[in-house]
Amino acid sequence: MRAIKTGNESTFLAGLAADPALRGSERDYFDNLQDLPLARFGYRLDTASVQEQQADDGSYRVQAELTVVTQLDGFDDRPVRAPARFVFERADDGTLLLTSTHDAAWEADHGVTRQPWETERVEVINSDQVLGIFDKPSAAHGWQIVDDVADALAAIRPELPVEWDSGVVVYGLSTTEFLSSLADLPGGVPDRLDGVAFPVPISPGSQTYASTRFLLHPRMVGRRDDARRRLIRHELVHVGLGRLDDRIPTWLSEGIAEYLAARPIAPQDRLISRDAVNAAQRGITELPSDQEFNGDDSSANYGIAWFACDYIADTYGESTLWKLFNVMRAGNGTASADQDEVLRDVLGVGEADLARATGDRITSVFG
Ligand SMILES: [Zn+2]
Repeated sequence: MRAIKTGNESTFLAGLAADPALRGSERDYFDNLQDLPLARFGYRLDTASVQEQQADDGSYRVQAELTVVTQLDGFDDRPVRAPARFVFERADDGTLLLTSTHDAAWEADHGVTRQPWETERVEVINSDQVLGIFDKPSAAHGWQIVDDVADALAAIRPELPVEWDSGVVVYGLSTTEFLSSLADLPGGVPDRLDGVAFPVPISPGSQTYASTRFLLHPRMVGRRDDARRRLIRHELVHVGLGRLDDRIPTWLSEGIAEYLAARPIAPQDRLISRDAVNAAQRGITELPSDQEFNGDDSSANYGIAWFACDYIADTYGESTLWKLFNVMRAGNGTASADQDEVLRDVLGVGEADLARATGDRITSVFG
């Protein structure tokens, strides 16, 4: 796409049909691409897919499948390939004019997740290690969010047992449209999530990721407070660990994220959900299972997971928390149903004892 690289908008638009909506959305897309840091961008045509059909009115319609290749410079480890279907019409003089670049049903069939910069004009803030993607209504909060992410990155990066050089992409949008389009949302209910870290596969369905990005729910975008800063640190733990926490009990991956997110806050200012305190007062006899973690009791579960990790780090030392993490994820990983033996090996106590100690710790700190 020479026109993109040279920033030549008239060349980019020249092949489009005279459809104001299409020209408007393609102009927005072109402008977005100018604002994004692109290591790679291009279209690859699948020549075997090209089909030409004559319509009843005698006009010709050409349909072609392509791959859109995008790699964010400094943020994606690999290029991302997304299938697309373009439709052209043959003009009277024989030239082809693009009439459609987007087909929702076809894209759903092919597992395509449309990026915000493919659906609307976005506000891009690129600040060295942090790339912020906002829309018009959320843009006013953009710089503050990007600054908070940079601070959180400085706090979290040294804490994780991983090599982590690439920057972080954060989406702060004013609607849940993109959030709802993500596959495999924890708990499956977008409005229950304040934020989510999500993988970007190199092609739909691939188990190889170009990066892990995160987004803030619209209700968190405008909150200029400790709750948003803590949430950002939480999501950054998931971003930094990437796939490493995929196959450990959910309470452990969420608990480590909560533990590291809360730690920079002075102990007397750390907040836990009322639901977690209530559960602790009733007595906790088991840890939240993988199946139930993001269900109806999720607000209690996050607090319990946090304090289970807080208890482990305080009692056995933080290195033991990471040892548990490593032993849990070894081999094919460990589901919560099979964790008891691992807990006994690493901590010397099983799930029931750890759950009870967690509850006691919550009631001793929060009453
Ligand atoms: Zn989380």
